[in-house]
Amino acid sequence: MTLFPMMFTDFKRESLIGKAVEKKILEINVFNIRDYTLQRSNSVDDEVYGGGNGMLMMAQPIYDCYRAIMNGRTGIKTYYLSPKGKTFNQEMAIEMSNETEINFLCGHYEGVDERALTLINAEEVSIGDYVLTGGELPCMVIIDAVARFVKGVLSNEESTNEESFRNNLLEYPQYTRPYEYEGLKVPDILLSGDHKKVEEWRLNKSIELTKRNRPDLYKKYLNEDV
Ligand code: SAM
Repeated sequence: MTLFPMMFTDFKRESLIGKAVEKKILEINVFNIRDYTLQRSNSVDDEVYGGGNGMLMMAQPIYDCYRAIMNGRTGIKTYYLSPKGKTFNQEMAIEMSNETEINFLCGHYEGVDERALTLINAEEVSIGDYVLTGGELPCMVIIDAVARFVKGVLSNEESTNEESFRNNLLEYPQYTRPYEYEGLKVPDILLSGDHKKVEEWRLNKSIELTKRNRPDLYKKYLNEDV
């Protein structure tokens, strides 16, 4: 549910998401909230009660849009993209990938009338501690992260296994051809053919990187490792 459906056009068409949509592994249906407004002016927002800057999305077009999507069905989770929500992470992506259908509400302007959230029973989810102009980019971020865990979206299912955040570690550095570029060589250990040593090197690099860039994650790694 969005006021800016065009923002999803290329997202649905390009890259791995585009292929998954084409193969019918994923279905992304974009609903324009404006199509559901009962205002003669076609507007979807109004001033905030109690004063304050900016405009707020009205409850009616959102609730009617939601009801049209649900069409009497129940048991489908709805998320409202919001900086006030719980911060999205890889664990949540895996959980969401087990759902067969999910609704997302993208806010705009100053956000949405609280009653819309109550009526559609929305859970708030944020993509990070910063404020964006709308929920469309966060929605695409979440769909992208979730889709990677849906069977058949990635050609090699193993590729989610050794990524950052697995076991609370960030991914180790990786290299491809040529062996030497601009005077920089690939670490010799990676060409040694000794799988055990390569694994050890990768784990050490992952630990080093996580400790430096994400001390919060490193703490979790240490706690789960003991
Ligand atoms: N007044 C709101 C507040 O202070 O929490 C911010 C509204 S923001 C300008 C407009 C819309 O962008 C929100 O309704 C939400 O849908 C989306 N949005 C902004 N930042 C976001 C974030 N970090 N994560 C998810 N959605 C976000």
